[in-house]
Amino acid sequence: VIRCRAAVAWAVGKPLSVEEVEVAPPKAGEVRVKIVATGICRTDDHVLEGHFVDVDFPVIPGHEGAGIVESIGEGVTSVKPGDKVIPLCIPHCGQCSFCWNPESNFCLKSHFSEPQNLMPDKTSRFTCKGKQIHHFLWLSTFAEYTVVPEYAVAKIDPAAPLDKVCLIGCGFSTGYGAAINTAKVKPGSTCAVFGLGGVGLSVVMGCKVAGASCIIAIDINKGKFAKAKELGATDCVNPQDFQKPVQEVLTEMTGHGVDYSFEVIGHADTMTAALASCNMNTGVCVVVGVAPAGSMISFDPVLLLCGRTWKGSMLGGGKARDFIPRLVSSYLEKKFNLDLLITHTLPIAKVNEGFELLRAGK
Ligand code: NAD
Ligand code: ZN
Ligand code: ZN
Repeated sequence: VIRCRAAVAWAVGKPLSVEEVEVAPPKAGEVRVKIVATGICRTDDHVLEGHFVDVDFPVIPGHEGAGIVESIGEGVTSVKPGDKVIPLCIPHCGQCSFCWNPESNFCLKSHFSEPQNLMPDKTSRFTCKGKQIHHFLWLSTFAEYTVVPEYAVAKIDPAAPLDKVCLIGCGFSTGYGAAINTAKVKPGSTCAVFGLGGVGLSVVMGCKVAGASCIIAIDINKGKFAKAKELGATDCVNPQDFQKPVQEVLTEMTGHGVDYSFEVIGHADTMTAALASCNMNTGVCVVVGVAPAGSMISFDPVLLLCGRTWKGSMLGGGKARDFIPRLVSSYLEKKFNLDLLITHTLPIAKVNEGFELLRAGK
């Protein structure tokens, strides 16, 4: 058993509290990882706000981490102690029908099919003050040590700087992959990205690498526009500067609407606005944002009639154990500059300050 620090969420709506926790050794098929760095994704904030019905408290959140394998359970063959790894928000078991399907990355071991508040054997590896603490997405990267199933961890290049590539654990891969894998953005195309957080800015980077000629970045926080332009946005739009709906603004700017639109906020109304912003024939709208549990959308079905496509994307649509290490290698080859996404670096003791910065749009 390892004693270390972790940021524990004891109840909905409460700040995290940094506690000493006990982390049990990995059982068969599991891996214990020393987490070196973790990002804060808006999804972690959704957890603290109680947006997810399938998250049980007390819980250790965090799912955008990178670390080093400390020990392995019986039967683990794909990683060994000392390997640099990224824990995977979408597992990749390699055995289920969706892992076999070349079109899908949504493994049947993922959280929509299997609860991940406890390990697969329905027990927890975390305790604190004599109480069992729940896992989050099997990852719980807000702990200095965590235990994950072998099929939810990917070995990465040993040269990777863990304080940078942790972003490949969720935000970067999600946004970049939504453009490259899910939308399959074509050279010379027009794109609109709704929401310029870490994930939306990564969509902008993906559209740029794919060769889009027009990338319109949309946010109500104009403080995000300079970074969006630096990463490849050609135009920036603040919907609050207009009387008419943003979809009309974008349609006027582009003639018939963009080729690809992305919702990277997590609101039902911006999801329908993004749909209406892509052209009615070949337009593709990708939903990346996670709306609060119970959200419903009503929309005019005529929007889909002429051929528009509405689709979703999880972790950028790539098969995690192949896609994540490949992105790490592309980063090391300088295909994109992840470092520009990092705004602040804080020690674990200041984790709540990190959430304040996120909520303040910084
Ligand atoms: P973030 O909060 O950092 O960014 C959201 C941005 O949207 C902010 O810049 C905010 O100002 C802007 N915004 C809010 N309301 C707006 C509006 N009405 N119009 C225009 N802009 C608006 O969040 P993030 O970490 O980048 O995550 C974005 C979303 O993606 C979240 O919902 C998160 O849960 C989700 N997510 C999904 C996946 C996936 O696999 N599908 C993975 C990671 C995150
Ligand atoms: Zn995330
Ligand atoms: Zn699978």
